Amino acid sequence: MPKMTVRDLDVRGRRVLVRVDYNVPMEDGRITDDSRIRATLPTIEYLQEQRARVVLCTHFGRPNGKVDEDARLAPIAQRLARLVTRTGVVYIRECIGPHAAATVSALPPGGVALLENVRFEPGEEKNDPEFARALASLADVYVNDAFGTAHRAHASTVGVADHVPAVAGLLMERELEMLGMVLDAPKRPLAAVLGGAKVSGKIAVLGNLLDKADLIIIGGGMAATFFKAMGHSVGDSLIEEERVAYAADVLARAGAGSVDLALPEDVVVAREFKADSESRVVAVDRIPDGWRVMDIGPRTVAAFRERLASCGTVVWNGPMGVFEFSEFSNGTRGVAETLAGLDGAVTVVGGGSTSEAVLSLGLADRMTHVSTGGGASLEFLEGHELPGVAALRDREEGAASNP
Ligand code: ADP
Ligand code: MG
Repeated sequence: MPKMTVRDLDVRGRRVLVRVDYNVPMEDGRITDDSRIRATLPTIEYLQEQRARVVLCTHFGRPNGKVDEDARLAPIAQRLARLVTRTGVVYIRECIGPHAAATVSALPPGGVALLENVRFEPGEEKNDPEFARALASLADVYVNDAFGTAHRAHASTVGVADHVPAVAGLLMERELEMLGMVLDAPKRPLAAVLGGAKVSGKIAVLGNLLDKADLIIIGGGMAATFFKAMGHSVGDSLIEEERVAYAADVLARAGAGSVDLALPEDVVVAREFKADSESRVVAVDRIPDGWRVMDIGPRTVAAFRERLASCGTVVWNGPMGVFEFSEFSNGTRGVAETLAGLDGAVTVVGGGSTSEAVLSLGLADRMTHVSTGGGASLEFLEGHELPGVAALRDREEGAASNP
């Protein structure tokens, strides 16, 4: 781990600003999944043990720099108060200013406060230096535990680090370690399973992993563009004409032996993009006119399972089919169950939809790591340094200088 973490600083008695990602799914003011809140508890509890004063901040929704009553954090503060067991949670209805500062100063050691939605402030998404300074003035130390927002260069993810020592939280640390291991030091063979709707969304990941992985498995809607490149007719499948040449290039590289590539043998096709559409299983070179690819077929699931059985590390990004429709979720479930059953392999799941699928199947506990960062995990796997991570102190740089 090249970045300093909260364990590397003396935080006793200090005011610690912790950027979390509590952008949780909500329906009618009720939180439908609090896993993002739970995922930050190790950092909060660690800070409480250290008798730090914990000041949490997050965005929620898209209020676009204005106060939006529907995007207030009251329900999140309530849920947090149930999960944080050592003390109550003080909900501050603003995120900067004299009232916030006074409330933070009055926190006892081990106390926890939650600031109001940072995106109520116009300076947040612009990474305005004045707003960043005001936010940072509430704290002696900054901890970033918001991996899911680390791909955004905002005031609360990047700007604050100009004013106070900035280190990673424990969730951030785990995300960077697990995803970093896939790219830099995987237990081999390393397999990448890629899916999702479109090739264009996955080109950068594919490009980065083509050089690193021993095996690339492609499913999902993006496979249709590869079928086209192979000369098959794809019926009404969603394909990207302008990516056919790219797919052909990847196929050529695989043919020349520079990477092992596995594509579907059979697919589930449907007449319409509908949950209850008529459907059937066909070989990939037998996709009928007027039908479209919706999922990988059963022979493909078995073949993928066999290929993955001998892998040391598997990273998975992108569902194998339109898993939101149960009729077309078998491929995604098959791959999820395969990964869950791999004994001794490291299994890492990234991507918003893919993590959601694994969670809803109840298989998250059986993966080595399910990333909490959708877009952030994708950008990480593309090989980009995330701005929210770049802003944190490097180990050597910070080693001698405690705040
Ligand atoms: P992630 O969020 O995990 O990175 P993506 O956003 O790339 O994944 O892709 C997820 C979407 O891809 C899902 O909504 C799923 O329905 C869609 N998808 C997968 N296979 C197909 C397909 N054959 N046709 C159309 N959409 C598909
Ligand atoms: Mg997605």
